[in-house]
Amino acid sequence: MNANTRERSTVSNIMRSLHNRSRLTLADRYYHEALEKGYRGELQFDALVESLTCDHIYLKDLRLKYYRKTFQIDSLLLVGNKAYIYEVKNYEGEYEIKGDRLLLSSTKVEVPDPMVQLQRSMSLFRQLLHHFQLPIDVEGYVIFINEKMALHNMPKSQYLLKSMTVKQLGAINKTTEKVSQKNKRLAKHLLASLQEEKPYDDLPDYSFETMKKGMLCKHCFGHLERLSMRRSFCQRCRQTEDLSESIYRSIVEFRDLFPEKKLTTKIIHEWCGSIPSTYMVTQVLKKHYNRHKRHRWTYFE
Ligand SMILES: [Zn+2]
Repeated sequence: MNANTRERSTVSNIMRSLHNRSRLTLADRYYHEALEKGYRGELQFDALVESLTCDHIYLKDLRLKYYRKTFQIDSLLLVGNKAYIYEVKNYEGEYEIKGDRLLLSSTKVEVPDPMVQLQRSMSLFRQLLHHFQLPIDVEGYVIFINEKMALHNMPKSQYLLKSMTVKQLGAINKTTEKVSQKNKRLAKHLLASLQEEKPYDDLPDYSFETMKKGMLCKHCFGHLERLSMRRSFCQRCRQTEDLSESIYRSIVEFRDLFPEKKLTTKIIHEWCGSIPSTYMVTQVLKKHYNRHKRHRWTYFE
């Protein structure tokens, strides 16, 4: 059973907007690409888990806190009375382990070892289980989901390449036990204690003024043009869309980027590159948000 859905993080949404609407530095472009690649890897792993037929609960993207320490679990699979934590990475190329370091084979440059994050998450997770008074066995694995990833000197342990992952999930799938009551209680507790994402510390500086205005295509993120009164059109992939949907998506994007700015017809009209009429922008704002009037100003929330 899927207990929740995997949403794109606000950080990756914002980085995607910045990529399409401003000039990113090379380092930020790599960051954006890594986020996109990471997300694709997680979806691939989800597909593997979602093909399991044994009784299970699958929880994704858990942002948790134990006392003052926050931690994140990409994927948590509950089967019988066991919990499996997976840290999924979409690394590509040849890597090697040397001592306790993960290196890129070609350059011997050290890269972040997901095992460090996994160990920390597991420790905090076990403390959380103790706090919930739920004695449950926990196993954790780093999954390298990309078939084009090779890892030399791989210790026989908690690192799994794609083929090994498929095998391990196959073994789990043979479980005939039902999900235990403890695990069911755990899933409930976890979903009730999720923490909000605090994305703005991890982002480069940006401003409304310097970003390219317009509406982005939902398929390819190309800039949209107006085809008719009610349709928009993507120059790049040639898809058309209801103009009000393009406007609404741009408003959602605007709110992620500028949560402190008030929603007004004027600013959204400008954000949409003045492509739709102000009348239409107001209609979309009215449909999805509450209108407030203060003195001669009108804004939406
Ligand atoms: Zn397009």
